[in-house]
Amino acid sequence: MDIEQFRKAGYQAIDRICDYYYSLQGKPVASQVEPGYLRKALPPSVPTVGEDFQVIADDYQKLILPGLTHWQHPSFFAYFPTACTFEGILGELYATSASNPGFNWSASPACTELEAIVTDWAAKLLGLDAAFYNSSEVGGGVVQTTASDSVLVAVVAARARYLSQHPEVSMEELVIYTTTQTHSLGKKAGLVLGLSVRALEVSFQDNFGLRGEALRKALEEDGAVGRKPFVLIATVGSTSSGAVDYLEEIGQAVASYPFLWLHVDAAWAGVSMACPEYREPCQLTAVNKYADSFCTNFHKWGLINFDSSFMWVRQRQNLINALDITPEFLRTKHGDAGTVIDYRNWHLGLGRRFRSLKAWFVLRSYGVEGFQKYIRDTVKHNEAFAKLISESAQFALVVPPFLALTVFRLEPRSLPKDKLNELNRAFYSRLSARSDIALTQTDLNGTFCIRLAVGAARTTEEDITRAYAIMCDEAAVTLKEWDE
Ligand code: PLP
Repeated sequence: MDIEQFRKAGYQAIDRICDYYYSLQGKPVASQVEPGYLRKALPPSVPTVGEDFQVIADDYQKLILPGLTHWQHPSFFAYFPTACTFEGILGELYATSASNPGFNWSASPACTELEAIVTDWAAKLLGLDAAFYNSSEVGGGVVQTTASDSVLVAVVAARARYLSQHPEVSMEELVIYTTTQTHSLGKKAGLVLGLSVRALEVSFQDNFGLRGEALRKALEEDGAVGRKPFVLIATVGSTSSGAVDYLEEIGQAVASYPFLWLHVDAAWAGVSMACPEYREPCQLTAVNKYADSFCTNFHKWGLINFDSSFMWVRQRQNLINALDITPEFLRTKHGDAGTVIDYRNWHLGLGRRFRSLKAWFVLRSYGVEGFQKYIRDTVKHNEAFAKLISESAQFALVVPPFLALTVFRLEPRSLPKDKLNELNRAFYSRLSARSDIALTQTDLNGTFCIRLAVGAARTTEEDITRAYAIMCDEAAVTLKEWDE
């Protein structure tokens, strides 16, 4: 493809993307294809002779689009939605047009400098302490691929810091602390690094948040048998139920463990701190006081297209100490002088995508007020849904709704408690068979429940009303089948 062919194909692509967005509402939310559908449709190897791009572009429409689940659909309420914006799409397009892996400042100065500026902007937007700004030259922010990568980086840095202070400790003695509600990223970090993970119990009574007392007890127990907890992955806004660990209590419990790293995973909820009223529900004061690192995914509820996981650390040197490997071919004048950030030492790979460009486009285009309005509208939509659930005689909230997440289930008074999981599995199975809505299920200490997470950028009040009507219809059929 030459430049003029690209111009033509590019205009067509934008036209088709616009048509896609216009037609989104009428599409099934979840893809309706069967496993293996694509292998049947595509040849087994690369074509011997290159094909005309128009044919390839048409095949995208014909073969790929039907196999996509539409995360931007207004009735997508599964997992945590990934709100995507046109500004973000354009940022991706420009970034990929330069295709420059800005691992060192010199490899592409704008990539490094924009990332340092945009992560400072985002830190201010969320109310993070100035200690986390790049401009502090001590702490700083970096854009990672995912929250799981952010945790891996935090754990690697925490381990290096711990072992530098305790050289006598062996890897087998080290323990990563999580809770039973921590996202799978906690276990995965242990798996990848070959370290043990201890998931601390949390309870319904505490809304699944970790208490300082439970942490203190675990630290004492492990201390007594020579195990060395060196990092705690705390959560603000857990995936299952939006649980928030009690960070102030946790901060106090770890006060006498100076080398226990506190990482706060606020992958979903963190961006809501752009609104002052959600800062304390997300424990901002304690994050600012105690966290060694903090992460939130702007690619979930923060309007920046996937991937865009923002991570901040209080001491950038901890990342560099753990991750800096500099063979001769990576040395640069400014890197050697230490006058620039070399982001290759702040993440796992070497090459890195120019993610800050889309973030810059989105944050500038929305501004603080536009960003806050989007977050507040989403919370309002969720509150409307939660109100319908809590006022209904047949549904019940399993935990109090948090921000844009409602966890609920069908609880008809006529049915004994021990039948409710089975009933709700049947109810969920009906919901998940529908093509006009997407939700996900979870289990909270043995209670099977359903999650509705608002966040797709195009969800409106009517979509919420329709979602509730679907719940009522499917509940009626489920209960009728149950009675028969
Ligand atoms: N942490 C929380 C609380 C999440 O809800 C999720 C995903 O939903 C993750 C981490 C994982 O995020 P990622 O896919 O960016 O690793």
